[in-house]
Amino acid sequence: MSCSENKEKKFRDVKPKKESMLKKGIGMVQNYASAVASRGIKNTKADKVTKQLRVLSCFGNTHLGGELPPCQYLERSQTVGKHYCGGCGCGDRKATWLMAEGEEYSKLDHPKLSCPLGMPGFSDYKPSMPDESEDPITRKFYIENIEYEEVTRIPVTIVEKQESEEE
Ligand code: SF4
Repeated sequence: MSCSENKEKKFRDVKPKKESMLKKGIGMVQNYASAVASRGIKNTKADKVTKQLRVLSCFGNTHLGGELPPCQYLERSQTVGKHYCGGCGCGDRKATWLMAEGEEYSKLDHPKLSCPLGMPGFSDYKPSMPDESEDPITRKFYIENIEYEEVTRIPVTIVEKQESEEE
């Protein structure tokens, strides 16, 4: 079952990626996410704010007392406590779990990682369309305009991939 089902419809679903258009007023988070998206793949791990943005994009922040529900594509794994992206088509297995335990490498740790919705924090991030700021706003627009400090408060562990780890 999708994790965002039965949530109050304060947020509109984000439509799958297409050509984006600039809108007025670019938030700091949007600026940062654009910089991350334009970066190469020289890094060996995702940096902390990038992973925090990814966590926000996939999981929202209701579990932290916020108001942003999980992504429409977030799926619960058959393994209790794990989640995977139902929009990628890559299924439910250890390598596709978005978050792992403590020091284990997980999908959100990959330096270069795409998202079917082009959400903030991912390598193929696409800024929201102008109409996404109209009520009900989209999750993407909400994240782009959230306080940067709020993103930096999301608890994450940064993990580097070990040679032995499977893809
Ligand atoms: S990777 Fe993108 S589409 Fe998949 S759950 Fe995360 S935010 Fe949603």
